[in-house]
Amino acid sequence: MITPAPPRRACVRYGADGVRCGNATNRADGWCGQCEGYTTPEPPTTDAEAKPRRSAWRWGPGDWKPAPLGMDSDEAYEIDVTPGAVATYAKVHAVEPQNAETEIRSLFEDLIADQAATERNEAGAWRVYFPKHGYGLLISEDRSHILRYCTRHMERTWAQYRTGVASRIAGPNRMPAWKREGVARHIDLAVGGKVVDLYARHKLGLKVTSENIDEVARRLAAHVNENVLPQWRHGDDESIDDGGGNTWRLVRDDEHPGGLILATYASGDTSPRDRGETP
Ligand SMILES: [Zn+2]
Repeated sequence: MITPAPPRRACVRYGADGVRCGNATNRADGWCGQCEGYTTPEPPTTDAEAKPRRSAWRWGPGDWKPAPLGMDSDEAYEIDVTPGAVATYAKVHAVEPQNAETEIRSLFEDLIADQAATERNEAGAWRVYFPKHGYGLLISEDRSHILRYCTRHMERTWAQYRTGVASRIAGPNRMPAWKREGVARHIDLAVGGKVVDLYARHKLGLKVTSENIDEVARRLAAHVNENVLPQWRHGDDESIDDGGGNTWRLVRDDEHPGGLILATYASGDTSPRDRGETP
């Protein structure tokens, strides 16, 4: 499918101040690429809204094994996109269905061009995804259809995320985007917000701020790389003693295929205290 270049029109997105942008743009997604590009004036803030949005990171059961997809980024404009994938995308990112389809194709193009992880399950379906960034697509066995759109994000599109636009939503444990993204710059695993706070407080004697997050995350990464990860067997749920008086709980699930550092607590406690939660 070849789409003609869309005409020049006013940007339909919103800036961080919640004001409609209005810059001229001829991009297919209707975003000028210069404002923050939020699709709604306000972020979704209630739990009732946040929960269904979070469930869009679902790959279905099965053992996923690395397998080359063998597709070219040009094919992103030839593959069919199912109505279900379009509906999920339109709902998560609050965009019109026709924009959703365009943006899904553009994500697919980037996934292929950026050599994203590609894996297959027993049923033959493919998943092409950025495990760390939390965007991906499920592809049919015969590679004719994009079956599903999967994301861990509650509002930002891949185009916004890759440009460095910050989320306006704190996570369910109120982990703000600056903290989550500061940690993500140093650690490949997802990290619960309280894990970061506790490490900073107990090991470094610091309160985490947007100024010191980079240093805290760097030292947390060094500690985890040296004392925790060498013992990790990549199980679904493991407790690892770091030899320095703290136990770290690491889990792996559908939402965190690369692993999540869920909690840290002083070794010897009978119950985990100050348990961190999903970021
Ligand atoms: Zn704009």
